[in-house]
Amino acid sequence: MKQIQHLINGVKVEATSGRTAPVYNPASGQQTAELGLASIEDVDNAVAVAAAAFNEWREVSVAKRTKLMYNFRNLVEANGAEIAALLTAEHGKVLSDAMGEVARGLENIEYACGIAELLKGSYSTNASTGVDVYTIRQPLGVVAGITPFNFPAMVPLWTIPNAIASGNTYILKPSERDPSTPMFVAELLHEAGFPDGVLNVVNGDKVAVDRLLEHPDVQAVSFVGSTPIAKYIYETGTANGKRVQALAGAKNHMVVLPDAEVGVAADAAVSAAYGSAGERCMAISVLVTVGDVADPLLEAITERMAKLQVGDGTNPDSEMGPLITGEHRDRVAGYIDQGAHAGARIVVDGREQTFEGDGFFLAPTLIDNVTTDMSVYQDEIFGPVLSVVRVDSYADALKLIQDNPWGNGAAIFTRDGGVARAFQEDVDAGMVGINVPIPVPVGYHSFGGWNDSLFGDTTMYGPEGVKFFTRPKVVTSRWPDPATSSVDLGFPRNQ
Ligand code: NAD
Repeated sequence: MKQIQHLINGVKVEATSGRTAPVYNPASGQQTAELGLASIEDVDNAVAVAAAAFNEWREVSVAKRTKLMYNFRNLVEANGAEIAALLTAEHGKVLSDAMGEVARGLENIEYACGIAELLKGSYSTNASTGVDVYTIRQPLGVVAGITPFNFPAMVPLWTIPNAIASGNTYILKPSERDPSTPMFVAELLHEAGFPDGVLNVVNGDKVAVDRLLEHPDVQAVSFVGSTPIAKYIYETGTANGKRVQALAGAKNHMVVLPDAEVGVAADAAVSAAYGSAGERCMAISVLVTVGDVADPLLEAITERMAKLQVGDGTNPDSEMGPLITGEHRDRVAGYIDQGAHAGARIVVDGREQTFEGDGFFLAPTLIDNVTTDMSVYQDEIFGPVLSVVRVDSYADALKLIQDNPWGNGAAIFTRDGGVARAFQEDVDAGMVGINVPIPVPVGYHSFGGWNDSLFGDTTMYGPEGVKFFTRPKVVTSRWPDPATSSVDLGFPRNQ
């Protein structure tokens, strides 16, 4: 059985806790690896290594850091197919989707290749007579990233490039469900020439996370995961004096107005609800139909669902793979039961499709006549289940979203520019799609939701990412002529 270790100071090391976790291939349901889980001592060791590395890494010139980042970018691109294969083997998403994940991760490395421009600072000459003022941005020190199972390559790459290009050293605690991809990406980073200790991977569970949250030498924590854990991370990390950004769960609504092109909206809904088996924080999980668009839209969606190929992600014909674990599959299936008992109409029941073998498969499900008191509406299901809420007007659709506690993404499908613009202005969500169902921003804009979808002040990657991993320092400088120097106890005035 494959054993997965930590990567500390450029070397693979065993976990010392004696505790392990199984890693599965979700398409076969078989255990494929055993993951060593970190002890408190393992985390302390990684932090000590990262702290020592920081002293040297912060002195490395921006020119050299940029060259290394370019090397890393090229290695990730050259090894894209291998990263995607590892991803499919442990996460289950289909290979084409995994390649998309790699491509979006690359965008974040490419952004960090421009770190020279991003750290440039600003300079005001002669701000007061003979006085110049300039702002520089400096790294924080040792920073940590804690990431979820659903994007094991891309989400670590949301933060690692900006953090280390800015001069920090980094400890990644990836999800224990699919750890091989982040380990491989970290190995590529070393191969690119980054010094040992700049990026360390500590595999583990709550024990490792809690130690990172408490450790006095960890300056900042960047988290992505479910809402209860994100809240816990934010509260604990900030109570320990750390800078924390914690991106959380979601319930993303897609509003379809009566004037929308039905075929386009149906394509978008099916793609965004069932891609990656709905295990995306930007998946569409609520379809809000306005007025009489509901019946033709549901008919078009049902037609498309009948053609979807669900199967092993390594099969090029598969469009949707399994869920991450058998337990999660059963939990998602349980929501379909709850919806039916609450009086919703199960239009397409994914439980009816059977699969050979022990894989964690559940076919796409469509539930109509969902109301806001039902658990299928209230909870983040994180599976291939699309709930339809029928409303009478655009105002009702907007109110539905505003009343929802989350606020990650929201989309509107319409041909009316005026309504789309009003939606863009008014909706309580951090990322808005206009005729775009999954509005994940490009690498040079930043990613993050509102309300219960993000705890903290800074969103992730892009300009906000660089801001999160650096702190400003303002220098006021004067080269005085000794002949004009004098004692003056007054508060310095600019003149
Ligand atoms: P999760 O919250 O279970 O785990 C995320 C990380 O937290 C993992 O590294 C895990 O080891 C750690 N963790 C889990 N329980 C913990 C505990 N009790 N104490 C300390 N650490 C703990 O999330 P997941 O199931 O891996 O990922 C799916 C969730 O992530 C969904 O809710 C999804 O919406 C969310 N997500 C959000 C975004 C976003 O950008 N907002 C992006 C991707 C995923």
